[in-house]
Amino acid sequence: MYHVLRCPGCATFTYADRFERWKLCHVCGEVINVKAVPHYLDVRDYRDAEEVVNQLEDYLYISGRKELTQTELLTLRREYSTWLRLQNAEPSTP
Ligand SMILES: [Zn+2]
Repeated sequence: MYHVLRCPGCATFTYADRFERWKLCHVCGEVINVKAVPHYLDVRDYRDAEEVVNQLEDYLYISGRKELTQTELLTLRREYSTWLRLQNAEPSTP
């Protein structure tokens, strides 16, 4: 599992493996304490994490805001878990 989080130094979205204690920000070089910052979303792998990071950055850029509202955050989590359920429900091809 991966945590989607945000650098406290420069507010760039990034992600960290759930076993990682520290994450180096690739933008400003800040060492992020993974346990100490808010987790926007928990996702199953790094591909999902990258996708969510890109979508969040686009979303905030387009809406011209710096932060998600609590409602948007809850919607994001709900949509992700719904999407994940659909993925898992698909029949596997041999
Ligand atoms: Zn940073």
